[in-house]
Amino acid sequence: MRMDTLALDPFELVSNPYETFKLADELRKKAVGDVVTFVVNRNINFTDICINNCKFCSFRNSRGFKLSLEEMRRKVEEAMDFGCTEVCIQGGLLPGADIDFYISILETVREVSKKIHIHAFSPMEVYHMARNSGISTFEALKILKKKGLNSMPGTAAEILDDRIRKEICPDKLKTGDWVRIIKEAHKIGIPTTATMMYGHVESWKERIDHILLIRRIQEETDGFTEFIPLSFMWKNNDLGLIARGASGFEDLLVIAIARILLYPEIKNVQASWVKLGPKLAQAALNFGANDLGGTLIEENISKSAGATSGEFLSPKELRELIKRAKRIPKQRDTLYRILD
Ligand code: SF4
Repeated sequence: MRMDTLALDPFELVSNPYETFKLADELRKKAVGDVVTFVVNRNINFTDICINNCKFCSFRNSRGFKLSLEEMRRKVEEAMDFGCTEVCIQGGLLPGADIDFYISILETVREVSKKIHIHAFSPMEVYHMARNSGISTFEALKILKKKGLNSMPGTAAEILDDRIRKEICPDKLKTGDWVRIIKEAHKIGIPTTATMMYGHVESWKERIDHILLIRRIQEETDGFTEFIPLSFMWKNNDLGLIARGASGFEDLLVIAIARILLYPEIKNVQASWVKLGPKLAQAALNFGANDLGGTLIEENISKSAGATSGEFLSPKELRELIKRAKRIPKQRDTLYRILD
């Protein structure tokens, strides 16, 4: 029988955490069973130079680097040698970067491999390239797809509420722009992830509204592959002066509530080991999560904001973490097809 989790009062879920945890674990089991997935991927951040000034960002201008296409090519070659099925490519907003700049990145990857999955460019980057090129975001997405883009990270979502966005990232695209670009991507067959960065100045109401908005988009487009709650990292950024991030308990509650409110529309809820640390991410597998994300190989964004969990977990380590949680590890691709 299909359970209608929308009939539940979301605020009851917040105030009765132990019942929420139990229900989230039951729904996880119903949705995906005992398999826990991970992807063998490599992150490539091509620049930290950025025209924006998001208050939670510790990455912007931290080193002032911009990779050449040759450096990117080498990173893709290393990813191939390592057996990665995906490269995840994102960067700061370079002044004036237009669609041709982003196309040159896709072409560089495709010169190395026709088949590696390119998971790249947030809605903010799509907005930036379209604005700099005098074309619509829909046009930009169609061009990117033609040039080999396979899927997009649903980052830059932060909290999808313009009051919060004004406070934490006033120059970032607005809620309506994020939703529009995501729907445009889904419409032309570019799947995306969905994210939420929580643990700063938002309330539970705004978190819940965000998750329900993601659910409504999924009901319309079916284009999200997963939901990834991202716990705010507070070091080396302005927002960290007034907010210290969520507690571990709250991290688990966000994951559990996301599982419940997204059930059964979004099957996959990720526990990010970079943000939570491997042990809390492992624990989250009993609180609604069914995926541990990727091997990453390199990670710059959370590290610059104080994350200490490292930049790389090998497939062997990820399998071990999952097995020790008494679950079944399986390697997946970006679109959640099991590869084992
Ligand atoms: S979060 Fe992204 S857009 Fe915002 S300042 Fe950092 S790099 Fe720039």
